[in-house]
Amino acid sequence: MTQQTSRIKIAIQKSGRLTDRSLELLQRCGLKYTLGRDQLMAVGENMPVDVLLVRDDDIPGLVRDDVCDLGIVGRNVLEEKRLEFAREGAADPFRILRPMDYGSCRLALAFPEDSGLRSAADLAGRRVATSYPNIVTDWLRRQGIDARVIEFSGAVEIAPKLGRADAICDLVSTGATLLANHLREGETVLSSQAMLIQTPQSVPPVKTDWIGRLLQRIDGVMQVRESKYVMMNAPIDAIPEITRLLPGADAPTVIPLQGRSDKVAVHVVCRENVFWETLESLQKAGASSLLVLPVEKMLP
Ligand code: ATP
Ligand code: ZN
Repeated sequence: MTQQTSRIKIAIQKSGRLTDRSLELLQRCGLKYTLGRDQLMAVGENMPVDVLLVRDDDIPGLVRDDVCDLGIVGRNVLEEKRLEFAREGAADPFRILRPMDYGSCRLALAFPEDSGLRSAADLAGRRVATSYPNIVTDWLRRQGIDARVIEFSGAVEIAPKLGRADAICDLVSTGATLLANHLREGETVLSSQAMLIQTPQSVPPVKTDWIGRLLQRIDGVMQVRESKYVMMNAPIDAIPEITRLLPGADAPTVIPLQGRSDKVAVHVVCRENVFWETLESLQKAGASSLLVLPVEKMLP
């Protein structure tokens, strides 16, 4: 087995909305890398993991063809390509491992404010511009709406102004772009977020161990983003109430306090963010000297 084939390749977006978060995730998994001169590949220095930097649209194909073992790409791109590959006869082109905690957006219909069109039901016999023709065609068919899908590769939001379409179906996160173009949001066709995918081929044994470790670390990184380590002093009989108040708390660690019989120290890991309101409730329940600390790393 050559060095090359024993290294794990993960494809991520080269430059775009998913790039920073994907690189940050891999760094937080412990990966140190040097960027190649062509900036197409980041070679892992301390793990047998290399990162391919490509256009997001190419990621599903690279994973399907087993050029890359793993990939991170928006569900919107994944679903569009899955429908395309299905037409070519590939039923399961990639394995979906997990959703990531970033890149969330929705593929939604939008109608010009002055058009009189309000919802998908008004689209019969009309034209919808989108960069996701497969997803939109499939959705309209399932809804029983007979509309024409016009493929646009970018700047979909100007299609109605150009007279090329009556409505659009595009990615929305805040809705600011729609507002700026006098478009009113309608039905959500697909909710999306970044997804981790794996090749449909069986992974060679030399790679299995590191892929498993990488997945465990990715889970750990996502878990700690929300998790907090909470410390406080409290009367022993307040512990049940304190545990109830803490969101997603494990069993608390209770430690005696030197020279005090009325109070103990309580330490607990919370798997959800801890807000000021929660701390105030804990205080009311008898807790004092409250401290909330970020969690750096976590393994089950
Ligand atoms: P590329 O050059 O890689 O083809 P792109 O222009 O297709 O880039 P980006 O605009 O960088 O892609 O978006 C990448 C992904 O980010 C989208 O496919 C989507 O999953 C996600 N995303 C999150 N919020 C938004 C948003 N408001 N608009 C567009 N994409 C979003
Ligand atoms: Zn793209």
